[in-house]
Amino acid sequence: MDFNIALLKGDGIGPEIVDSAVAVLDKVAAKYGHKFTFTPYLAGGCAIDATGIPLPEETVKACQASDSVLLGAVGGPKWDTLPGHLRPEKALLGVRHALGLYTNIRPAKIYPALKGASPLRPDIIDNGVDIVMIRELTGGIYFGERGRRQGAGGEEAFDTECYSEMEVERIARVAFETARKRGHVVTSIDKANVLESSRLWREVVHRVAKDYPDCECVDMLVDNAAMQLVKNPSQFDVVVTSNMFGDILSDESSQITGSIGMLASASLGDTKCGMYEPIHGSAPDIAGQNKANPIATILSAAMMFRYSFDLEDEAVCIEKAVDDVLEAGYRTADILGSSDTKPLSCTEMTKVILDYIK
Ligand code: NAD
Repeated sequence: MDFNIALLKGDGIGPEIVDSAVAVLDKVAAKYGHKFTFTPYLAGGCAIDATGIPLPEETVKACQASDSVLLGAVGGPKWDTLPGHLRPEKALLGVRHALGLYTNIRPAKIYPALKGASPLRPDIIDNGVDIVMIRELTGGIYFGERGRRQGAGGEEAFDTECYSEMEVERIARVAFETARKRGHVVTSIDKANVLESSRLWREVVHRVAKDYPDCECVDMLVDNAAMQLVKNPSQFDVVVTSNMFGDILSDESSQITGSIGMLASASLGDTKCGMYEPIHGSAPDIAGQNKANPIATILSAAMMFRYSFDLEDEAVCIEKAVDDVLEAGYRTADILGSSDTKPLSCTEMTKVILDYIK
C-alpha cells in the first residue's frame, strides 16, 4: 500500500524525533511491501518565524489531503510571550479542529525492563500496567459556553460542561471497539453523583455497552478513579472519559509509567486520517543535542499503522522491536535509572531499534 504522510516536525526536539520515526516507518514499509511519501510542513514556532502565524493554511490543507499526520512537538521559550492566538500550541488545536479529531488515545504501559522508572512501589505494579486511556477531545467544558458577568458577589465567571448523546455515543463506541481487541473491560469515568452531563454520559455509555455483550462496562467516579490509578492501576484495561477528566487522568496515568519519553498518542476522527504524536513537549532544554528519547514518537508511528491503516502486524513489529531493545538493556538518558552504562543518543537508539526490526 502507498501512504502520503504530512510531517509536522515542529520545534525543539521535534525534528530529531520525527526523523527517527520516519526511518522506522520506512524500514517497516520495506519489510512489508508498503511505500511512504513524507512531506514536511510548518506548524508551531517554526511557522511563526517563517510566516507570522502558528498554522499556515497550506499546512491545514496538506493535513486534510494526507493519509495521516505525524507531529513532533511545538513551542519553546522563544514564543512564550506572544499573545494567545499566536502561540505555537494554537497549531495543535487548529489541526485537531480541521481534521475533526474527537478521540484521543493514549496507551500507558509499564515495560517490565523499566519497572524501576515508575514512581509506584514494586508490589503495586507487579501484576503489570497496560491501560489505554480514551479521552473525548472536541466537546465538554473546554468548548462549552463561557463568559463573565456581574452578580451579587461581584464579577462572576462561568464555563459550561455540555455533551450530546451523539458525542458520547461515538467516543463510547471507540472504547468498546478498542476493548474488544484487548482485555474486554471498559471503565467509564464520570461524576454522575453530581453532574447532569455525567448522568447523560453514563446512560449513553450503558446503551452502547448493550451492543458489546462480550465486554464488561464498569462505572467509576472521577475522584475514585484518580485514587485507583495509583492504588491499583492493574485493574484498568480501556478507560473512557470526557475532555477535562481525560486531560487530567491521562497525565496521571502516563506518569505512573515513569517516563515521558516513552509515551505515544493518537488523535482520531471519523476518517482514517489521524494525528500521531508523542505526549511530551519540545524539550527545549535538550533540543539540538541529540539526547532526546525517540521511542514515544516511534511508538506513535506504530499506532498510525494500527489505527489509520489497520496494519496490526506492522504495528506489533515496531512495538516488539522497542520491547526487545529495552529488554537488551539499551537506554537513552531519560530512562537510564541507576544504571551506570553510557546512555545512547537519539540517533544511536534509533539505529538499535532499526537493527531489531528484522
Ligand atoms: P516537555 O515535555 O517538553 O519537557 C519536560 C521534561 O521532559 C524536560 O526536562 C525534557 O527534557 C524532558 N523530555 C521531554 N521529552 C523528552 C524525550 N523525548 N527524551 C528525553 N527527555 C524528554 O515539557 P515542557 O518543558 O513543560 O514544555 C516545553 C515546551 O513544549 C513548551 O513550549 C510547551 O508549551 C511545549 N509542549 C508542547 C506539546 C506538544 O507539542 N504536544 C506538549 C507539551 C508541551
